[in-house]
Amino acid sequence: MSVLRGIGVGRGAAVGPVAVARPAPALPAEERTDPEVADAVVADALAAIEAVADALDQHAARAEGARAEVLAATATMARDRALASDVEQRIRGGAGPAHAVRDAVEAVCAMLEAAGGLFAERTTDLRSVGDRVVARLLGQPEPGVPALDVPSVVVAEDLSPADTAGLSPDELLALVTERGGPTSHTAIVARQLGVPCLVRVPGAAALEPGTRVAVDAAAGELVVDPPDDLVERLVARQAALAALAEDTAPGATADGHPVALLANVGDVASGVAAAATAVEGVGLLRTEVLFLDRRSAPTLEEQAAAYAEVLRAFGGRKVVVRTLDAGADKPLAFVPHEAEENPALGVRGYRLVRTAPELLDTQLAALAEAASRTGAEPWVMAPMIATPAEAADFRERARAAGLAVAGVMVEVPSAALQAAEVLAEVDFVSLGTNDLAQYTMATDRLRGSLDDLLDPWQPAVLALVARTAAAGAAVGRPVGVCGESAADPVMALVLAGLGVTSLSMAPSAVPAVRFALRRHTRAATEEIARAATSAPDAGRARAAATALVAPDVREVLGLDGA
Ligand code: PEP
Ligand code: MG
Repeated sequence: MSVLRGIGVGRGAAVGPVAVARPAPALPAEERTDPEVADAVVADALAAIEAVADALDQHAARAEGARAEVLAATATMARDRALASDVEQRIRGGAGPAHAVRDAVEAVCAMLEAAGGLFAERTTDLRSVGDRVVARLLGQPEPGVPALDVPSVVVAEDLSPADTAGLSPDELLALVTERGGPTSHTAIVARQLGVPCLVRVPGAAALEPGTRVAVDAAAGELVVDPPDDLVERLVARQAALAALAEDTAPGATADGHPVALLANVGDVASGVAAAATAVEGVGLLRTEVLFLDRRSAPTLEEQAAAYAEVLRAFGGRKVVVRTLDAGADKPLAFVPHEAEENPALGVRGYRLVRTAPELLDTQLAALAEAASRTGAEPWVMAPMIATPAEAADFRERARAAGLAVAGVMVEVPSAALQAAEVLAEVDFVSLGTNDLAQYTMATDRLRGSLDDLLDPWQPAVLALVARTAAAGAAVGRPVGVCGESAADPVMALVLAGLGVTSLSMAPSAVPAVRFALRRHTRAATEEIARAATSAPDAGRARAAATALVAPDVREVLGLDGA
């Protein structure tokens, strides 16, 4: 038995044989294009690109939901005119067709990687397009996942939409990749298909096809040739986990103390999809997508239509809309800003009101318009609030726009330290623990190298969360959490114990959190919270809280590891 480690996506487990996705074709060493035949070579190369794009479109037509969208988006990337003309230029410059395609794709990937974040994650998809085109040009079989005769654990260096397009949960036991990240395509598909997934597992792609492995996403481990007792445990856990999704009741502790379970939503389409899941509403509707990558700001009408679609999808359920969180860290083409050395500390989020107040006021007016069109009563909140005065200003702007319920995010330590004063100005607050950890620990959240500091279990972060929750409880105002920490079932118990009133997370994380809450009384969550907040460091805080979790919850959620 040997163990490979990586980052788990979700909490599932699976046991079965490995199927290895075929890697990209190797380029021929000698490959040049004679100018006399360049026209024909260009035509062949462009036809190969078109054929790969067509195949993606056909896959997209057969797929559903987010998978279909990713495939269609990849087909669009393949058909990018700039890519085709770069390939053509390289061939006319004497390059062979396979090299021309690979180099043109790499040039686009370099730009996407320089842009970073979600752009960089698209490079896997684009490279897979390039590989398929190259394989076609070289007359080689398509790279990607082999036909699966038996349900299998698919391992690969990385997987693209084209690789995963035909896969169904019936034949796919788990996905394991050496590259990618928690938000890469592989992770998205795994969440959608409901299969366990591990990313960043060094050595996974070198496993022999057919090797029996156990994949444990909760532990972040792949066990080669697993012993029988481990297999039994994981199979039982997977069955119990699957059963959790049957429970659609509102979030509450065992003795009925309510903790609302809400969805984090990044765009209109995922908002509409989230409305179909068992959540009590939206705790964080991020609105950046409407503003980024545009030459001009979205109009009031455009915004109102988008907000109304989400409000309508959620009917009478609560929807918390966050105003634009862009600026120095995510620059907008239509807002002039000076280059900043530390964009995370600069003019971002609510602070944009200093340079472009009309952006915020238009957004608030658009939300009020969406409310009147749908009859809904959205809550609205501002990101990056640092002082009670900013909170008061935001409340006034929201009220002036006709929005009755106005709150702010607590994600800057100053706002947490002054939570009582901030809460005196607004109707509710929502803790953004992603940024609160970043700013409390002075640790850039975009860099992976300081993960131990950027940890919501750090005592200083927990102390600020506790202080904010207590301030809310003292005046009877809601305090939610919408950072990633809310999706961790053990942290969710701590947060509930601290008096947090709602938890907002990716909808796929809700069943495990609901289950954990339901298996503990309010008093038990308070005891878990006390254990976490009195620990001397992050590791011991997590361990102390986990040790108090009910045994059946530990078993089903795999909290004790493999
Ligand atoms: C947070 O900071 O925790 C948060 C929810 O906001 P975002 O991740 O969008 O910055
Ligand atoms: Mg934030």
